[in-house]
Amino acid sequence: MQVTEQIKALADNYSSVIDIIGEDKSREGLLATPERVAKSMVFLTSGYGMDPAAVINSAKFKEEYKDMVLVKDIEFYSMCEHHILPFFGKVHVAYVPDGEIVGLSKIPRVIDIFAKRLQVQERLTVEIRKCLDENLHPKGVAVAVEAQHLCMQMRGVQKQGALTRTMDVSGIFKQKEKLEEFLNAIG
Ligand code: ZN
Repeated sequence: MQVTEQIKALADNYSSVIDIIGEDKSREGLLATPERVAKSMVFLTSGYGMDPAAVINSAKFKEEYKDMVLVKDIEFYSMCEHHILPFFGKVHVAYVPDGEIVGLSKIPRVIDIFAKRLQVQERLTVEIRKCLDENLHPKGVAVAVEAQHLCMQMRGVQKQGALTRTMDVSGIFKQKEKLEEFLNAIG
């Protein structure tokens, strides 16, 4: 679907939502809301139209470097697929190259593409790890995600500030020593 069609269809639906919850959609403050929310939703789910593998493949370089490369505290914002409410926090990504490195800015870019889809934190973690493994073929990848989930904080159990941590590792990071090096580095 074209973006303009998408916005139109979403706006129509959000207009119904406003109606159904008992609001007056003709109220001044709400007049432009359906279209505004529609545009926001298109932006927040723009990861569907993007190819994370292409991002990695566009910036690979042959290098001798053999130690761990760690990019930590990468901010992200996503939406849980169960409630379509935000979850957000930080991602830490490490890899040990095997002849090739990737342009560092591509790692946050890949995270952003996967985050801008309806997600669960567990799958987001694995998708980031797999994307690096499959396109960079390093000796190992480690990904840790720490996030707060508004579906937990605003509704249901209302556990304020609870942090969920997920982790996925491959290759050399399955060795205790390397995993410890990663965990110590991210704190
Ligand atoms: Zn949720």
